[in-house]
Amino acid sequence: MSGGGERGYARGRGGSAGDEELDRRPRFPVPAGWKRPSKARVRAIRDRLRMLYGSRRNDPHDDPVHELVLTILSQNTNDNNRDVAYRRLRDRFDDWAEVRDAPVDEVIDAIRPGGLANTKAPRIQEVLRELGGEDPEASLDWIREAPRQEVIDYLTSLPGVGRKTAACVMIFGLDRPEIPVDTHVYRVGGRLGLFPPRISFEGAHDEMLAITDPEDAYELHLNLIAHGRSICRPRPRCGECALTRMCVARREGLVEPVI
Ligand code: SF4
Repeated sequence: MSGGGERGYARGRGGSAGDEELDRRPRFPVPAGWKRPSKARVRAIRDRLRMLYGSRRNDPHDDPVHELVLTILSQNTNDNNRDVAYRRLRDRFDDWAEVRDAPVDEVIDAIRPGGLANTKAPRIQEVLRELGGEDPEASLDWIREAPRQEVIDYLTSLPGVGRKTAACVMIFGLDRPEIPVDTHVYRVGGRLGLFPPRISFEGAHDEMLAITDPEDAYELHLNLIAHGRSICRPRPRCGECALTRMCVARREGLVEPVI
């Protein structure tokens, strides 16, 4: 079975939480009187993050089904276990149609290292059946060129597929501009004042896209995650942060940094 197995694994797409988990919104203090930041301000944030974490170039794997399955496997596990499970799945079966039609116990066995195999295996098969057609991969060909909203509406209509997964399929699979919003992007972006107060995860996806140049979407996504993992943690290390002067939450005393 060929295609996309290793590609995209190391992209740090923001932890192991699935879309269901993201429904638990993290809380972060937000300033009153929020105004949408200008693109110039977002570019300045991009540049500062680039200094810290480098620029990034997308290498889309052109396999939307890969991304869908990978995201299901990522739920409630770490990236390493997810990748082992994915690799075993692809080694065990010749193509996605075989995965779809296999006895569920065989799929469970293949993905066991990823955890929650009894839940994830039927979910994967359900999604593959929902895609329809002889070849599930080919049945998603149309999303390469279809209007963005049409693609998002379709993907989020699939069982267990939420907005973040749809965004991952678009950007990692097809290099279509999207910024998947995970807990890191949501927290860091909120503190930097990129979102309005109390916005939903779903709304944050649209907001991020509205303020970001399309060619920066991939880089900004990854570098916000990198910043959220290393410095702007739930308890932020503002004393070590190079974005202090750009940070709304810090300026307004809304965060409690590590001393
Ligand atoms: S100044 Fe503090 S809260 Fe603001 S981005 Fe940096 S680490 Fe996060």
